[in-house]
Amino acid sequence: GIRPLIAGNWKMHGTLRDAAALAEAVRAGAPAGVDLLICPPFVHLHVVAAAMLGQPVAVGGQDCHAAAKGAHTGDVAAVMLRDVGATHVILGHSERRADHGETDAGVRAKAEAAIGAGLTPIICVGETLAQREAGEAEAVVAAQVKGSLPEGFLAAGGVVAYEPVWAIGTGRTPTEADIAAIHAVLRGLTSPATRLLYGGSVKPANAKAILGLPHVDGALVGGASLVAADFLAIAGAA
Ligand code: 13P
Repeated sequence: GIRPLIAGNWKMHGTLRDAAALAEAVRAGAPAGVDLLICPPFVHLHVVAAAMLGQPVAVGGQDCHAAAKGAHTGDVAAVMLRDVGATHVILGHSERRADHGETDAGVRAKAEAAIGAGLTPIICVGETLAQREAGEAEAVVAAQVKGSLPEGFLAAGGVVAYEPVWAIGTGRTPTEADIAAIHAVLRGLTSPATRLLYGGSVKPANAKAILGLPHVDGALVGGASLVAADFLAIAGAA
């Protein structure tokens, strides 16, 4: 089967000291048989990546710009992430789609840049609660996948993360059947080798059940990734 990937999205949390300590705790407890990825805020990424060099913990960004360089104040290019030691980048997270108006086409352009820079893109998709309640979840996710994944994404080992917006940071998760149904759709739209992650209120208590579902090849963890013991417990359940 596909080797699981457990990814921590640290979002906008912590000090540099916190980031260094959390990375070291994850490194020290990294279980065998699972790939681990941590995604610190940009300002902490270089220090964390340098500390994880040669260690079994990969480091990624939480976003990148679609251009390789230029007059884009406040943005960071994919090649810059690669240069400081990142190997992955999260793209199209629902918080960025909401906070920064990111579109499928914009995410696709960023993913092209990421692949061009030698990074593995992790593209996030997921429906809102209103879309779920309207019975549109599968259609919404399928449309996001079709619109956000560039040509060459599957060949480059790109990862897709299903993150229902209403499950993020809420303690709520879809039923196992609903997660499995979406992941079956994702499998059909990607390839047998594509890693498909679930994200949204993944905790040690629900990790084993979620990670055991068909076509769930790992998790994208938010809040629980800020506590090393919780993140490692999730990894241990994979
Ligand atoms: P939580 O695990 O805090 O629900 O966040 C999930 C997420 O958005 C990961 O990218």
